Amino acid sequence: RSKFAGRATFHIYDRETMDEDESRQDIPELLRLALEKQLVSVVYQPIYDVESGSVLGYETLMRLRNLRGELISPAVFIPVAEHTGAIVELGIWVIDQACRDMVEYGLGAVVSANVSPIQLKAPSFPLRIAEILQRHGLAPHKLALEVTEGIDIVPEAQAEWNIQQLRSLGVQIWLDDFGTGFAGLASIRRFEFDVVKIDRSFLHDCQTAEGRRMLNDMVRLLRNLGHRVLVEGVETADQQALLRRLGVHAMQGFLVGRPLPIETMDRPKVDRVA
Ligand code: C2E
Ligand code: MG
Ligand code: MG
Ligand code: MG
Repeated sequence: RSKFAGRATFHIYDRETMDEDESRQDIPELLRLALEKQLVSVVYQPIYDVESGSVLGYETLMRLRNLRGELISPAVFIPVAEHTGAIVELGIWVIDQACRDMVEYGLGAVVSANVSPIQLKAPSFPLRIAEILQRHGLAPHKLALEVTEGIDIVPEAQAEWNIQQLRSLGVQIWLDDFGTGFAGLASIRRFEFDVVKIDRSFLHDCQTAEGRRMLNDMVRLLRNLGHRVLVEGVETADQQALLRRLGVHAMQGFLVGRPLPIETMDRPKVDRVA
């Protein structure tokens, strides 16, 4: 993030706060209280194999409520949490919760969690992940961390070091929102992401022939580089059919599965062997 990003973000944020919603002013305060007052929770969105339709895993998404119990959009609170630094502890809480849920519910699938550049830059991050995995007895390859190309184009040394550390633990590293940032193909090759998630805007552009060509070319390029490709935001049967034709490995979207709290999800039919 550039030196100026902090100030610029603050400006935009202040203006939105005033115009749209007064309660947004309380977000730093809510974030400060979030763990103590249990304002934060997680939901899980299934990730499907395009070919077989089976569940490959679940993406963990953070939810925040205000003191009246109303949900606040991540688009609103995540940038604030990054700005105040609250994302570091909240992010760890989310990953801890996700690992606990996966073991307790015996879902046996990969669980992915979003990690912001702020979290990734914290020197203690890999050790804390290792500690969480060990405490819950979760195999490292069952955890995937989704990093985004959106913010830090060339990751700082600490972030890059941390990615290598997490890799050597056996944790998967996925690239989120591919195509929306400025990360060049060089960084795609350098980091050898286990999965690349193509941002949902590219699927939405597929109403036009040009948009379809674009997605087709992206998928082919990523596949040729040896990546597994996931497309986000599948909302229609036509889009699902298109992904099958393009040879996309995995998909997520409201058509096939919305984010849900763990209590409402089906447990596997077969009991876990103790
Ligand atoms: P993301 O990681 O790209 O997550 C996908 C977002 O798309 C989620 O929004 C999900 O609910 C939404 N989505 C899924 N399928 C569809 C669909 O078919 N159509 C449409 N229109 N949307 C769909 P959500 O939960 O609001 O999260 C927004 C962003 O907030 C995430 O984008 C991620 O960048 C960030 N975020 C969420 N949870 C966490 C977290 O625990 N830590 C961090 N650092 N960031 C998080
Ligand atoms: Mg994500
Ligand atoms: Mg994201
Ligand atoms: Mg995404």
